[in-house]
Amino acid sequence: MDNELSRRVDALPGLVWTAFPDGRIEFVNRRWCEYTGLSVEEASDDGWQTAFHPDDRAALLETWRVAVASNAPGEAQARMRRVDGVYRWFLCRVNPVTDGAGKVVTWCGINTDIEERKQAEDTARANEQRLQLVVDGFPTQVLIFSPAGEVLHANRCFFDYFGVTLSELKQWQTNGLTHPDDREAVIARFRESMSNGKPYDGESRHRRADGVCRWFRVQGVPLRDKEGRIALWYFLQRDIDDRVQTEAHLGKSAALMAKVEQLSLRGSFSWRPTTGSITWSEQLYRMFGIEPGAQITMDTIAAGVHPDDLHLLHEMIERAQDGKDVEFDHRLLLPNGSVKYVHIQAHATRDVLGQLDYVGAVQDVTERRRSEDALACLRAELIHVCRVNSMGELTASIAHEISQPLTGMTINAGTSLRLLSAEPPKVEGALEAVRRTIRDGRRASEVMKRLRARFNNHAVKTDAVDLSEAAREVTELLRDEIREKRIVLQLKAADDLPPVAGDRVQLQQVVVNLLLNAVQAMNEVDDRPRQMLITIEREDGDCVRLAVTDSGVGFDPQYACRLFDAFYTTTRDGMGIGLSVSRRIIENHGGRLWATPNERFGATFSFVVPSLGDHPANAGPVDRI
Ligand code: ADP
Repeated sequence: MDNELSRRVDALPGLVWTAFPDGRIEFVNRRWCEYTGLSVEEASDDGWQTAFHPDDRAALLETWRVAVASNAPGEAQARMRRVDGVYRWFLCRVNPVTDGAGKVVTWCGINTDIEERKQAEDTARANEQRLQLVVDGFPTQVLIFSPAGEVLHANRCFFDYFGVTLSELKQWQTNGLTHPDDREAVIARFRESMSNGKPYDGESRHRRADGVCRWFRVQGVPLRDKEGRIALWYFLQRDIDDRVQTEAHLGKSAALMAKVEQLSLRGSFSWRPTTGSITWSEQLYRMFGIEPGAQITMDTIAAGVHPDDLHLLHEMIERAQDGKDVEFDHRLLLPNGSVKYVHIQAHATRDVLGQLDYVGAVQDVTERRRSEDALACLRAELIHVCRVNSMGELTASIAHEISQPLTGMTINAGTSLRLLSAEPPKVEGALEAVRRTIRDGRRASEVMKRLRARFNNHAVKTDAVDLSEAAREVTELLRDEIREKRIVLQLKAADDLPPVAGDRVQLQQVVVNLLLNAVQAMNEVDDRPRQMLITIEREDGDCVRLAVTDSGVGFDPQYACRLFDAFYTTTRDGMGIGLSVSRRIIENHGGRLWATPNERFGATFSFVVPSLGDHPANAGPVDRI
């Protein structure tokens, strides 16, 4: 090779060499020598082989042998040892140079350093293998699609679940892997993503290896290369069948619950006092007349509560701070001005962190309250009517008994007047008429006496009466009337009270009178709590005392005695006989009934009756009519 040519060959960016037609090395360039550390002489003939990695030599020689034998170009990859002993990968290519007759006159070869490319390829391959391992190890189903939408791969989790091969999977659009009802929608959605590159997200049913279809959430995202072109699509599938079934079940339960709440006029809520967060059921919104879905706070609730009952709500909130169960009634004042009665019950629970939560129910009891109120009215009216009736009955019987002798007296007096006015006066006849008048007068007075005797002697039964129990019964009877008037009633009965001797019904009548009077006395009271206290205690001398204290209008002490007079009343509808009858009943029991004004407000009406054993059975009734 002339100097000029060998200089040019030396400048080429590769290790260049030539060989004789029989394959022996003829020449290597300077770069070749510099790289391997061998001289041209050392490389000639077969010496060049020592520059290659022993593991790659056989394959390289075989390629070289085939090329020489066939006079055709050859190509092989092999590691060449650098002068410092480090091996690097080279691509060795060789071409035959022929003369005009096609005979090989020489071989020209070039070895190019491909170490970096090779490493990059190895890294990519290793990465791919690692990725494959990772994807296979995913506990969720992964599918990989080409940008055109062809299935390239799926992970083990996927194949195990569906029991199909890759080629069967490739036919997913037609082979029934997708539920027939979802197929069209899934394909349409898939095609859309493939064409516009937007992520895929949907829920659909797919057939498991055992033939059972289950719900899946399927999400797909494109993986883009540096230029932004889609390189692959990754799809993840999650089995959400249990969740879907639970949701369907919950949906059904919620619908059922809503229906039940609607039918039973009941709503439910949860409340966390520490954060103030409140959740309402649909029915509760309806009950309070609030737009469904509106945010509920204590202020929203308070705005719906009847102003007169707001204190009940505040008391309830205060009580709830201690984590106790709460139960109370209050009224709602709806935007249209109507009033509803609701009954609230809430149960306190604590979560794992000890946070207090209330779960409760609100029941619309308007109808029930209305009928209860109507019943209470009826009952109160009945009690009043009974009182009036007993008076009416008494009056009627007196009228009946007296009217006869009175008529007789009038007739006889008239007769004697007529006989005495006659000319001459008929004295005998007149005397007889006067005698008859006297007789009728006596009869009338006897009737009166008898009546009085009968009334007063009305033998008081001397049963053993448990006064506190009898009083409790009466308060129960008047419970609604008392509650309706917003009166707080307290009954304090001492323990171990002895029974009193008497007529339970009559004693209860007295208590009814005292309670109704107390209610009446508090009717106009609005500037202080309406309170009524019944105390039953043992009194000196083996008696039992019952006192009714109220915070009503009270009375002027100077009229204290007149209160017990028959027909004394200061009330518009009063008859003024309640206290007089009560006093008579108590006195018939050998007891005493009196009234005292309270220190600040109201009055106390008390009576004492002897306890059993001390009843003055022979003392006889007190004649007071
Ligand atoms: P009435 O209740 O029909 O008026 P009563 O004989 O029961 O008849 O009562 C007579 C009067 O006594 C009442 O009108 C009222 O002036 C007075 N009175 C009764 N109870 C009370 C009370 N608790 N507080 C104030 N005044 C009372």
